[in-house]
Amino acid sequence: MSEKFIKTLKEVERFLELSDREKEAFKEVTSLYPFSSTEYYLRIASKSLAVRRMLLPSLEEVDDSIQRFGSEDPLCEERDKKTSLLTHRYPDRVLIVTTNVCPVLCRFCMRKRNWKKPPFFISDDEIEKAVSYVRENKKVRDVLISGGEPLILPIEKLRKLLLSLKEIEHVEVIRIGTRLPVVFPQKLFERELLSLLEEAEKVWVNTHFNHPDEITEEAKLAVRNLLKAGIPVNNQTVLLKGVNDSPEILEKLFRELQKIKVRPYYLFHCDPVKGVMHFSTTITKGLEIVEELFKKLSPLAIPYYAVDGPGGYGKVPLMPERYRKEGNRYIFRSFNGKTFKMDDR
Ligand SMILES: *Cc1c(COP(=O)(O)O)cnc(C)c1O
Repeated sequence: MSEKFIKTLKEVERFLELSDREKEAFKEVTSLYPFSSTEYYLRIASKSLAVRRMLLPSLEEVDDSIQRFGSEDPLCEERDKKTSLLTHRYPDRVLIVTTNVCPVLCRFCMRKRNWKKPPFFISDDEIEKAVSYVRENKKVRDVLISGGEPLILPIEKLRKLLLSLKEIEHVEVIRIGTRLPVVFPQKLFERELLSLLEEAEKVWVNTHFNHPDEITEEAKLAVRNLLKAGIPVNNQTVLLKGVNDSPEILEKLFRELQKIKVRPYYLFHCDPVKGVMHFSTTITKGLEIVEELFKKLSPLAIPYYAVDGPGGYGKVPLMPERYRKEGNRYIFRSFNGKTFKMDDR
């Protein structure tokens, strides 16, 4: 890996003018939760307050009166590990966390606990262990590759992982969770990486746009390159206070995503992670937003709003209440607020 990411306040100040409070936060917070960005994403932050909030350290991250309600690993990914880097929760899907390195450290990261570990990339030995686990568990049909940013793994490691998984007959889907199209789209202009993803055949990409300001010409090109390689691209958004917690912003985001043929898959309720609690909205607010979206958008452009159960219970999609049962009848509420009934027969 030759790319150099921006880590220091001094470098950041070449792109952004920081307020005294932002400078103080940078110094105060980065010893616990470090900073990293690409030049590209810093340039977006210089024009977008929402992106700035996702990128720059804030004193709220270390404010105990806010963060004491969070925990390091609310989803119990560590507890449910089957090899050092593989978590198996659902019968047919496993998660492999391949690295803790990311070009951009998002302040709302749900794996902030991993920021405290020294940088790691999955070792060849760990690849073999994870792949053997999948090979021996014939029910696993979908393998999630996450991080960190899995697509900045050294290409030979990535090749070994993806092509070994492709060889396993019962693995039907390899899902890569990546934020490259958002924070470092130039990496997806590289032929070698695209060819590998194409060669691995079973690959789907889940990317992570949170705000319409992130959908730039470069981002569109990165997405187009993935689509051209035959890779379906879906999007996971996190509902973030002060970033995208309004029906107008999310409507725009999901419309723009659909325009570039990226299907909105999940809108995650913000996980109660220590260091991230200041981004959290209420669930009621999330449901109100989704209710508004259903008045305006086709379900093709509406993701599942989901809570990931603290304690490792898995994800639960939430829907605004649109029907109830009365005796032998269902009573429904339509998109424009009218009521109709249907007998249940
Ligand atoms: C989210 C997650 C998955 C994938 O779940 P989907 O609802 O299919 O996207 C698989 N394993 C773990 C541990 C997860 O957290």
